[in-house]
Amino acid sequence: MGLTNTSTGVNARDTGLVIKKKRESDRIVALAGNPNVGKSTLFNALTGMKQHTGNWPGKTVSNAQGYAEHNGHGYIFVDVPGSYSLLPHSAEEEAAGEFICSGIPDVTAVVCGASCLERNLNLVLQISEAVENIIVCVNLMDEAEKKGIEIDCELLSERLGVPVIPMSARDGRGIEQFLDELDRTEEKAQNKRYRVDYGDDMEKAIALTGKQGREALEIIRSADETLPAVKYLRDRGISAGDVDDIVSRALARAAAELTEGAVTIHSKDANALDRRLDRIFTSRLTGFPVMTALLAVIFWITITGANMPSAVLNRVLFSFEEPLYSLLISAGMPKVLSDMLVYGMYRVLAWVVSVMLPPMAIFFPLFTLLEDSGYLPRVAFNLDKCFKKCRACGKQALTMCMGFGCNAAGVTGCRIIDSQRERLVAIITNSFVPCNGRFPTMISVITMFFTGYAIGIKQSVESAAILCIIIVFGIAMTFAVSYLLTKTVLKGVPSSFILEMPPYRRPKLGDVVVRSVLDRTVFVLGRAVSAAAPAGIAIWLMANINIGGTTLLTACSGFLDPIGRIMGLDGVILTAFILGFPANEIVVPIMIMAYMQNGVLTDMTNLAELKALLLANGWTWATAVSMLLFSLMHWPCSTTMMTIKKETGSAKWTLTAFIVPSAAGFVICSLFTLAVKIFIA
Ligand code: GDP
Repeated sequence: MGLTNTSTGVNARDTGLVIKKKRESDRIVALAGNPNVGKSTLFNALTGMKQHTGNWPGKTVSNAQGYAEHNGHGYIFVDVPGSYSLLPHSAEEEAAGEFICSGIPDVTAVVCGASCLERNLNLVLQISEAVENIIVCVNLMDEAEKKGIEIDCELLSERLGVPVIPMSARDGRGIEQFLDELDRTEEKAQNKRYRVDYGDDMEKAIALTGKQGREALEIIRSADETLPAVKYLRDRGISAGDVDDIVSRALARAAAELTEGAVTIHSKDANALDRRLDRIFTSRLTGFPVMTALLAVIFWITITGANMPSAVLNRVLFSFEEPLYSLLISAGMPKVLSDMLVYGMYRVLAWVVSVMLPPMAIFFPLFTLLEDSGYLPRVAFNLDKCFKKCRACGKQALTMCMGFGCNAAGVTGCRIIDSQRERLVAIITNSFVPCNGRFPTMISVITMFFTGYAIGIKQSVESAAILCIIIVFGIAMTFAVSYLLTKTVLKGVPSSFILEMPPYRRPKLGDVVVRSVLDRTVFVLGRAVSAAAPAGIAIWLMANINIGGTTLLTACSGFLDPIGRIMGLDGVILTAFILGFPANEIVVPIMIMAYMQNGVLTDMTNLAELKALLLANGWTWATAVSMLLFSLMHWPCSTTMMTIKKETGSAKWTLTAFIVPSAAGFVICSLFTLAVKIFIA
C-alpha cells in the first residue's frame, strides 16, 4: 500500500510525509474534509503553524504536520489535501484516502462547512465506515449563522453515533471542545455508528467480500468477475459503473435523512448576495472586463506604491557600501577579494532587494486578498471555456494565477489537475505568466522607453496599462501553446470536472498581511537573495577575468550577439538572461555590468542614467519591446526547473518545459524584429 508504520516514526511514502513522534504515546490526528472548509485554518489554530489558507479548493497540495499538547496528551496533526470522496477520482484524492485509511491516524477529524453540511456528510459517512475513531467538526458556524442556517450538532451526533463539534476555527470557537473530545477518544470506544443502506443487492455483494466500508466498495467496483461479489452483481445486471451511481445515491439519501430536522434554514435565500456578486464577476458581459480591470488596478497600486520605497531602500543599502569596503580593507582583506565581495556580491544583492522587495510586499498581499475573498475560482470559471477550447483543463486558470506570484508555486499547484495530460500542459505553459521576479525588469523597461520617469498618476496608469497588455499577451500565448501541445504531443479529450464555487468571504486583513509577508514575500526574497549572492560573485569574476585582452563576459556576449540580433536584442542581453537563470531579478544588474565594462556594477537606480547607457549601447524602442517579450517568454528559472523535475519526475518533460517558452520567445521576438525591419525601418 506504500505506507509503513514504525514504532519511532511513520513513513507515508505516497504522500512524501514522514511523521516523527516526540513521544511514543503521541497520537496522530488526520484533518480531512472537502476542499475549502477550513482544514488549514483549524490546523493553524491547533498547531500555531502557518499553513497556507485561501478561499478556493486545491491549495493544500501535500500533507503538512504540526504538533500540539493538551492536558498532557501529545497530538500530531496532519492537514490532508481536500477531497470529496474516499473512492478517488484524482491522484490527490487517492493520496488523501490512502492516508486516512492506512491505519496510521489514531483519530480522523472530518472538517465540514456548516453552510453545505449535507453535501459534506457524504465524505463523513465514507470515513465513518472506514476508520475506528472519528470526530466531525462543523466549521464555519459563524458564516452559517449569518446566513440564517441553524445546526443542531447534538442531534446530528446522536444520529451519526460520533462526536459532532460546532466550530469557527478562524475565531478559535470550538477548538477547546475539539481537543477535549480528542482526549476522550483515547479512553472510550465510540458509540454504534450510523450505517448507510446501499440496497439489498449491494449489501449482499458487500457481505460476499468479507470486508467493510471502503475496502468492500473498492472490491465491488473492480472489473474482476472472478470475485464472487463482482460476479453476484453482474448476474443481476449491475455494472462497475452502476456501483458508483448506487453508492452516490445511497450516500446522498443518507445525508438528507441525517440532516432532516438537524439543519434548519431560516432565511429564504441564504446565498442571495453571493449570487448577485457572481452576476458581476462571472457573467458573460462583465466577467472579462472586471477581471482585466482588477488585474490593472493591482498592477497600478504595485507600481505606484513601490516607487518611493524602492528609491529609499536603494539609497540606504548603497550608503553601506563604502563603509563596508573600508571595513574589509582595514581588516586586512586583499583588495581583489574586497572588490569582489562589495562591488560584486553586495551590489547585486542591494539591487535585488531594493528593486524586488517593495513591489513584492505590495503585490502579494493584494493577490492574497483576491485569493481569500473567493474570487480566484471565478477566474477559473470565466476562463474555463477558453481552456476547454484548447483541450486543456479549466483549473489551469488557477495554477496560472499562482504563477503570477512565483512560477515554482504555480507548478506545484498543478497537482490540483487530475488528468496527467492536462497537468503536463499546465506545467509546461506556467511560465508564460510572469512571476514577481520579472515584474521589476518589465516595469523599468516600460518606464524608460514608453512612459517617462516623472512619478505621476498619468505615468503609472500608462505603465500599468502596458504591463496589463503584456500579461494579456502572455495569457493568450498560454492558450495558443496549450492548444498546440494538445494537438501534438499531449493529445486527448479534456476531462470534465466540477469546480466548486466557494462562498465569497470577507478576508481577515491581519491574516492576509502576515501570511503574504511571511509565506510569500520572505520566501521569494530569500530565494532571490540566495541566488543573487553567488551570481554577483560569478558575474564579477566573469567581468574581471581577462583572457587575451577580453573579459569572459565580453567573450560570451560576443559569441551570443548574432543570435541576439536576430531577436532584436544583443549578446549582452542574452548573456544576462542566461546568467539570470538562478533568479530573473538579476538580469538587469548583469546587463548594466556588462555594458559598463568596468567590471563593477554602478548604482543605476537613476532610470534616466540607465536609459542613457542603454541608448549608447544601441537600444531603441524596438529593443525595449523585444526585451519585454523575452522577459515574458524564456526558460523558467532554476527553482522552477527543479520543481518541474520533482513534479513530473521526468527529464523529458522538464526539458520540454525549458524548450517550449524559450522557443516561443525566440520565434515571437524574431518575428517582431522582422516586422519592424520590413514595415518601419
Ligand atoms: P481548507 O481548504 O479546508 O484548508 O480551508 P482553509 O483553511 O484554507 O479556509 C478556507 C477559507 O475559509 C479561508 O479564507 C479562511 O480564512 C476561511 N475560514 C476558515 N475558517 C473559518 C471560520 O471559522 N469562519 C469564517 N468566516 N471563515 C473561515
